[in-house]
Parts: sequence; structure tokens; C-alpha cells
Amino acid sequence: SPTLSLTIADEAAMERLAEDMAAILGPGDVIALSGDLGAGKSTFSRALLRAFAGDPALEVPSPTFTLVQTYDLKRLTISHLDLYRLEEPEELEELGLDDLTATGAALIEWPEKAGRFLPASRLILSIAHSGADDAREVTFSFASPAAESRWTERLA
Ligand code: ADP
Ligand code: MG
Repeated sequence: SPTLSLTIADEAAMERLAEDMAAILGPGDVIALSGDLGAGKSTFSRALLRAFAGDPALEVPSPTFTLVQTYDLKRLTISHLDLYRLEEPEELEELGLDDLTATGAALIEWPEKAGRFLPASRLILSIAHSGADDAREVTFSFASPAAESRWTERLA
């Protein structure tokens, strides 16, 4: 499927991308954040949640052990997942992702751990180091044609 690629110069630019994504996020949206340890998945998630909350001091702990942390914000409930410690993809059902995304949105780090248990309509953001220490390449792709039609217009 078609992809879009952005060069992000530094952490501030990553935060601006997260703010832009916060502005288009709505009910049922799932963003899968791919990338190695230290790529910037949590940095992106924290900035998106703070922007959405309108609170630059919002505490966004890493859900490494709890796997999911849910934020009841005024316009939307956003769940932040870190699946690094998921042992079996089936565990995702126990986390209730379907319920969380029925009316809310979700940001998912380490989506590869979920196997086939993620919604087909998800947007995939792949973050990779790119040259200089703080530079990143962020690639947008779609998990399915349904995902493409769900997201394309809003990303334009
Ligand atoms: P991940 O969740 O992917 O493991 P983190 O967001 O926890 O990664 O860590 C990314 C680290 O890289 C942070 O220490 C952050 O300050 C740093 N960093 C440097 N440049 C960038 C950038 N352009 N985007 C995101 N993080 C960056
Ligand atoms: Mg992380």
C-alpha cells in the first residue's frame, strides 16, 4: 500500500508531528508505533497525549508492566499500550482492546507482539534512526485498504 515518509530532525519536530496527529485523532482510531528500542515511540505517545489533554505536564508513565494505561480525556479516551512484555498474542483479548477502541482511540508500542490481534483499520507509524543522533525517519503505512480509506483524507 502507498506510504508517506517524513524526515524528523529532532525531538521537537517529533513532538510537533505528535501534536498534528492529536488534532486528527478520533474514536476508534488505532495507531501502531513500530521501531527499535529508543526510536521514539514513547516520546511520540507522550507528546500526543499531552497535546490532546492540553496539559504539557500530563504524566505519561511507560505502561511496560501494566501493558495498558488509559487516559480519560475530555473529548476522547485514549489508551496507551506497550506490548513488549506480552507473551502470547491471545493475552491482548484479556486487555480488552476491542472495548477500548469501541469508543476510544489507542496508541500501541511493539504492535508486532500482537500478531493478528490488532484492528485492520490501524495506521502504522514506523520510526527509524536516520543519520544524525536526533534524526528520525517516520514512515506512514496502512494495515489494509480499510485503513487506507480511514486515514488518507485526514493525513492529506
Ligand atoms: P521507544 O519508546 O521507541 O523505545 P523512547 O521514546 O522511550 O523510545 O526514547 C527515545 C529517546 O530518543 C529519548 O531519550 C528521546 O529524548 C531521544 N530522541 C532524540 N531525538 C529524538 C527524536 N527525533 N524523536 C524522538 N525521540 C528522540
Ligand atoms: Mg517505549
